[in-house]
Amino acid sequence: MRELKTVIDEIAAEYRACEERGQVATYIPELAKVDIGSFGICAVTADGAVASAGDAEIPFSIQSVSKVFTLTLALGKIGDALWRRVGREPSGNSFNSIVQLEYEKGIPRNPFINAGALAVADVVLAGHAPKVALGEILRFLHFVADDDSIQIDEAVARSEQATGYRNVALANYMRAFGNLSNPVEMVLGVYFHHCAIAMNCVQLAMAGRYLAFSGRHPTTGARVVSPERARRINALMLTCGHYDGSGDFAYRVGLPSKSGVGGGILAIVPGKASIAVWSPGLDGQGNSVLGSLALEMLAKRMGWSIFGA
Ligand code: GLN
Repeated sequence: MRELKTVIDEIAAEYRACEERGQVATYIPELAKVDIGSFGICAVTADGAVASAGDAEIPFSIQSVSKVFTLTLALGKIGDALWRRVGREPSGNSFNSIVQLEYEKGIPRNPFINAGALAVADVVLAGHAPKVALGEILRFLHFVADDDSIQIDEAVARSEQATGYRNVALANYMRAFGNLSNPVEMVLGVYFHHCAIAMNCVQLAMAGRYLAFSGRHPTTGARVVSPERARRINALMLTCGHYDGSGDFAYRVGLPSKSGVGGGILAIVPGKASIAVWSPGLDGQGNSVLGSLALEMLAKRMGWSIFGA
């Protein structure tokens, strides 16, 4: 195994110079302002070592990566009852698609497509004020990342709130099927704001450690979730974390991962590492182009794919 820091430095050098970067998301106007030339990467290993390179300390909008954390909270609240409201199958459709919702009677395919994450936000909201739910989400992130400075980027939240017509449609459609119990505006408020959480690669890699290390908080040894729950969240990340690009991502990279349209990806190497990478240029499925390539290279050079060398 090559030394991790050397590999991370090589990857950052290679991808910071790369010209083929995809396109930044423009449907959320605030995200279109991000510098497409940014590239950051960080990996945290079981011994607590942190290896980072590039723009690893510049905050970005974590967008759908936040769905991993809200899923963890919703499972903590209602456990397996969640699966009466959300499926566990890859959708094969884009993250904001509405088509399956009609056939499948308002039950989203999985918790990572937007419709599924809205059902999860409804569970986290649980009759409280959106502020209370968002406070809980932030406190959870502060705990798992060991960092109280993580905040919501209000400009991004407002930008998405002003233009999130598809999410408004999805939420209303699910409410019509009885699969949202809180007012639609409140569920959307929680969803837009948790997507607008800003984190850097170091913070995100730290936050993912409980998934890499059997549900435990590695610095304190405290249990965040059970080992079974960590394993199952990882399974969902592998099968559904990149939407209709999940199969290809598993084929190329072979790690449970979750992407976001801010260009971030959280990737888990069970028992070995939690990795965050950020490059804002996206492919046609809304996944970071260079982020995926960087993880493919890292998994290969470190022998980290869960499917073998
Ligand atoms: N907030 C974004 C949206 O709802 C999240 C999408 C994503 O990151 N894939 O469209």
